[in-house]
Amino acid sequence: MNNSAVFKNLLDHVLMMDFSRTDIDALFESMQPYLAKLADKLYVAKTEIHYDVSSDIYNIGKTHKTFERVYCENVASDSEAVTRTKNDDNNKQITIWPVYGHKWTKREMRDILAVSNLILMSFSHAAMEIYHAKIQYIDSVTGILNHPGIRHYGKETEKIYSIEDYSGCFIHINNFRYFNQRFGHFAADEIICQCAAMLYDNTDHDRELVARLGAANFFALIRNSALESFIDMTSNMQVKIEQEEYMFPLSIHTRIGVCPAQKDDNVSDLITKSSFSYEQAKQEKVNIAYFNQDKMEISLQKKAMREMLPKAIENGEITPFYQPKVDMHTGLLYGCEALARWIHDGKIVPPGDFIPVAEECGLVTKIDLYMLRSVCRDLRSWMDSGLEPVRVSVNYSQQDFSNNLLINETLNIIKEYDIDGNYIEFEITETSYIEQFAALDEFIRIMHEHGIRVSLDDFGTGYSSLKMFGTLDIDVVKLDKSLFDSIRPEDKKSRVILKSIASMIDQIDITTIAEGIETDEQLMLVHEIGGHVVQGFIFDKPLMHDEFTKRLVSRKYKPYTECIVRK
Ligand code: C2E
Ligand code: MG
Ligand code: MG
Repeated sequence: MNNSAVFKNLLDHVLMMDFSRTDIDALFESMQPYLAKLADKLYVAKTEIHYDVSSDIYNIGKTHKTFERVYCENVASDSEAVTRTKNDDNNKQITIWPVYGHKWTKREMRDILAVSNLILMSFSHAAMEIYHAKIQYIDSVTGILNHPGIRHYGKETEKIYSIEDYSGCFIHINNFRYFNQRFGHFAADEIICQCAAMLYDNTDHDRELVARLGAANFFALIRNSALESFIDMTSNMQVKIEQEEYMFPLSIHTRIGVCPAQKDDNVSDLITKSSFSYEQAKQEKVNIAYFNQDKMEISLQKKAMREMLPKAIENGEITPFYQPKVDMHTGLLYGCEALARWIHDGKIVPPGDFIPVAEECGLVTKIDLYMLRSVCRDLRSWMDSGLEPVRVSVNYSQQDFSNNLLINETLNIIKEYDIDGNYIEFEITETSYIEQFAALDEFIRIMHEHGIRVSLDDFGTGYSSLKMFGTLDIDVVKLDKSLFDSIRPEDKKSRVILKSIASMIDQIDITTIAEGIETDEQLMLVHEIGGHVVQGFIFDKPLMHDEFTKRLVSRKYKPYTECIVRK
């Protein structure tokens, strides 16, 4: 085979290569058989290729790489060698030495130069392909990894190292919106770049990773042994930005969520979990929070609930249970409270689980009006079947009073089922917001015009105060379970205080209802403070519609005195 045939083979080989799947080392190796043949034909003793290579995936910090191949021992002096250079991103240089004592002919020299050019071109092409493959993983503002990048290179780190030696850190630069407004977007980007550089400079580029996930959020995969110093560094980052020819110094404040990896975690899990920890830190108004599995599960449950609640209301999965209120002296059924239950997948979800979620996502008013409608429907059906109902109280959340339509919608529902106001009561809790206070006042006034009573729920929990029924025209105060739970028979002072409060409430013609009464001692305490009406497990738990209908028929409980004897 003559020179040109070998040369053509090399050219064919290069043209056939899939550069997107070949790195530069592999390219050089694959050329070797062709170069060896050319070396024979062209009296080549040695080839050396230098090129710049970034030491890491980010193209930051270039180093030199050299490929060298010696084809025979007889290498001519350097002055006999031919060198070609290509000054581009990778600054490549190829030097080819003839066999000692051989001087290349013009034709041979032409071939040597053609091979040199071909090799440099192939290297450029391969470098460009590698760069293109990488660029999808690089954040265009900071030059560090982006979100797909950390996931991609994270997988490689997982393969080489043990994930349990690592922690994921979600780092948020506080006040970024302020920086944008105060210094403009250009300077804010500069701040982000400087933060990225600091995070990058404080990671071990061979074993750790850092990425910008977007906006002012970063993620770093840090070895546990370096975690403490890394966190320290993030809490003390200083940057400088140019403002009217002056370098303006800024202290950067961060909030960080940390998740030490478990055996089965991967980098994507660490991103999710550390960002969740960051959200926790934000909620708890602290600078750093460590991952807590229980908190995450609760939060996921809440999220699932938020998604399911609207359908649950639509599908009628929320239903009232009725808990009787009993006049402890006569033993007669006095009234009842409608308590929401969510019947979901055959299980009963208590209101303590879903009402706070409904409040968070603005669905609680829908639920409360839905409950009122269900109560009115039940009242109507009891009346239509000839049963004399009792007054039913419905819980209205604080949030309901921000809704301008609340009063109208409430009255419309009651009217729609043609229910006498005397059968309805609303239970509300105290508010400290002035605007809501005014709305509450208005609500009570209009309810009174329709003969509807309003009670103050949970009195004694710390959310209610004496001021509340001094200023609002409340009909009933419900003394909270906690008041009766905490007072022991020997606790004279607390008993006197409770008795005085109950007597004072009585003197201003407000009815008291004792809630959460479970034991004889508690019942005696209610009696001692002059209470009459009791709602508690001692008489009944919240009951399903049909069960409560039976109570409406019987209406009779054992009076207080018999109740005590019974035990
Ligand atoms: P609440 O309005 O103070 O209702 C009384 C709670 O005390 C009920 O819990 C009831 O089952 C419980 N309870 C009554 N007697 C006893 C007792 O002797 N022992 C014990 N351990 N507990 C007793 P539930 O039904 O879980 O309701 C919890 C809270 O959820 C209610 O407290 C109320 O604030 C809220 N809620 C319930 N239904 C609704 C609703 O339809 N709308 C709104 N906005 N909130 C509701
Ligand atoms: Mg209540
Ligand atoms: Mg209560």
